[in-house]
Amino acid sequence: MQRLTILGSTGSIGRQTLDVVRAAPERFRIHALAAGRNAALLEEQIREFKPSLAVLLRMEAARELRGRVQDLSVRVEAGMAGMLRAVQEPGVDKVVTAVSGRIGLEPTLAALQAGKCIALANKETLVAAGDLVMRTARTTGCAILPVDSEHSAIFQCLEDDGQALAKILLTASGGPFRTCPLEHMPDITPAEALAHPNWSMGDKITIDSATMMNKGLEVIEAHHLFGVTYDQIEVLIHPQSVIHSMVEYRDGSVLAQLGRADMRLPIQYALDYPVRYASPWERLNLRNQELSFFAPDLQRFPALGLAYRVGRRGGTLPAVMNAANEVAVRAFLREQISFARIIAVAEEICALHDVIDDPDLPEILAADAWARRLAAETVERSAGIKGDRS
Ligand code: NDP
Ligand code: MG
Repeated sequence: MQRLTILGSTGSIGRQTLDVVRAAPERFRIHALAAGRNAALLEEQIREFKPSLAVLLRMEAARELRGRVQDLSVRVEAGMAGMLRAVQEPGVDKVVTAVSGRIGLEPTLAALQAGKCIALANKETLVAAGDLVMRTARTTGCAILPVDSEHSAIFQCLEDDGQALAKILLTASGGPFRTCPLEHMPDITPAEALAHPNWSMGDKITIDSATMMNKGLEVIEAHHLFGVTYDQIEVLIHPQSVIHSMVEYRDGSVLAQLGRADMRLPIQYALDYPVRYASPWERLNLRNQELSFFAPDLQRFPALGLAYRVGRRGGTLPAVMNAANEVAVRAFLREQISFARIIAVAEEICALHDVIDDPDLPEILAADAWARRLAAETVERSAGIKGDRS
């Protein structure tokens, strides 16, 4: 029986993690559930899964939750202190990090320091502080098991110690705008960008998929998780999302992992690793299934080139790119800036940053805060320019 804490239980990955838990009550028990502000859904989850501890980051939401569950024995806490307790308590074996954004960094580090194994969905944490997080995992001997479908695929294809690995082929659907006329790109609306062809996900990652910043973040995530150089990571457009990624060995042999576009599969793999249990989800049917592959269009999707440059430079720069992107995505969803401005904002903030090498946590958090402040100012200026469409 594994005892789990889920950070971000009310989100897309969090809810699908609870689907996996619901399907295998003999293997899992929920110790703590944590989210941002959704008290109503967290109450439902508490009544079903009976955790010892529930946390909402927002104080007023936590107060509301306390009122909703006062007939139960669950402890309700608020804020980052509550999140840190939820990952560190002795009753926890594994932490699923499924919050969206860099906010997941401190709880992930705290969990590793407390000796907990991580099922990691929250890629922004590895982008912002990959060296620090991986070093902490090595020091404490904790495993970081990937939930992101591509990284789970790579993890499943890796043999032994990875000595014979030549490169990683990171597949990408290309999102909703892979073939959209270029002249329409600046006018893309949030509703269009939120309509992903293959996956149903939270808003932030769906917009990242539309700009392909998601793939850029995943390139940096793969570099840290698998210890490969950026030259060893090749992005390949595969619109059907049937192959979730591949690895090529030095003898030329390529291994792929295939599956339906259903995150419950990589989630279950990360929860149960190294055992593969039966699962009740629908199976992949390959009859009449076409598989196609293309090189990515770097002009249409500047995020990809930016992420490679930023990843190669390292230091505090990936944290800065990630923070600026988080601010710009939020501004696009609020219709303050155009689609094309999202990556332009990230590029502009990166160009202004004085990189610190080998940063510690305070330096990463300071760079993140600096980038958010500057990106917010840039967004304000863009929003103020009437008819800004570029
Ligand atoms: P969602 O937006 O659906 O969910 C985000 C979760 O995080 C919610 O529970 C939300 O709580 C919580 N949250 C948001 N902000 C905060 C905050 N400031 N403090 C605490 N909790 C917060 O996101 P997804 O589930 O789609 O994605 C989660 C992570 O997993 C991301 O890093 C994403 O990149 C990654 N991922 C997602 C995939 C997917 O298929 N969805 C695939 C691969 C990776 P509340 O709702 O209560 O505000
Ligand atoms: Mg992915």
